[in-house]
Amino acid sequence: MIKLDNPVYTARESFNLCGEGIGSVDFKNRFNVGIDNLCQMEDTYCTEAIAGNLFAIASLPENTNDDFIVAEGITKKEFITLYEYYLRNKEKPGRAIYDLLMVSANEKCPYCGGIGRPKNLDHFLPKAIFPQFSIIPLNLIPSCRDCNMDGKGKSIASVANEQIIHPYLDKDIFFNEQWISAQIKSYDPCSIEYYASPPYNWILTDKERVKTHFHDFELSKRYSIQAAEELSILVYQRKRIMKNMLPVEFRAHLLSFVEAPIFINHWKKIMYHCLSNDEKFCGYAF
Ligand SMILES: [Zn+2]
Repeated sequence: MIKLDNPVYTARESFNLCGEGIGSVDFKNRFNVGIDNLCQMEDTYCTEAIAGNLFAIASLPENTNDDFIVAEGITKKEFITLYEYYLRNKEKPGRAIYDLLMVSANEKCPYCGGIGRPKNLDHFLPKAIFPQFSIIPLNLIPSCRDCNMDGKGKSIASVANEQIIHPYLDKDIFFNEQWISAQIKSYDPCSIEYYASPPYNWILTDKERVKTHFHDFELSKRYSIQAAEELSILVYQRKRIMKNMLPVEFRAHLLSFVEAPIFINHWKKIMYHCLSNDEKFCGYAF
């Protein structure tokens, strides 16, 4: 839900840099012969992602043999090796791509809206069943530990509604419009809960997709944990230094956080939005 700029490196640059690191003459030759066609997979990926159709790209069966030839004479195992030994490996030229992608996230995991710090790259389409995209930068998402689903047996979308939000290529509405809300669950002790609330004028698929994203990354639970600490400090202040504030003044104080220059679906912005709209909370004698 945080939009990332497209990677600086193209697929061709990634294939070239990773190819430089390959030691085996046989692998290197096959790789170089197929490179033009391999680069075209980036176009397919891009077109389908922008259209919200990545789910339509066929995956390999989970139990596909390592020696299965995926494209241009390159096997499943070799595609995975390209990532693990020629892109991720700190000793290889391809590592420059890994490092730049990680830096591009500015320490904020795009999947969870920055509550986690990126620890490694996640294959948006997992490399185990989409090995052909293993080193295409557009498929590599800097991700925090809690959000990284690569290899965790993430359930692959089989229909459009089941697709999570793509940080590089998805529609602007997912990043610029509010689709998360919160409500107060109890006043004393005060707690709130978050839920996906896509705008009514969105098409059904987009509504379902944000619900999938919200659910798959367990954002309700994770945001509530973040909010609990913030809320306890706020209530503490309301009881003490802000105890003489009128409800209207307290509401203005809450609204100042809503207007903070952070992205629209940030858990904190949503929390203050919810609190400032709640008459009982603004006037509550804690
Ligand atoms: Zn995350």
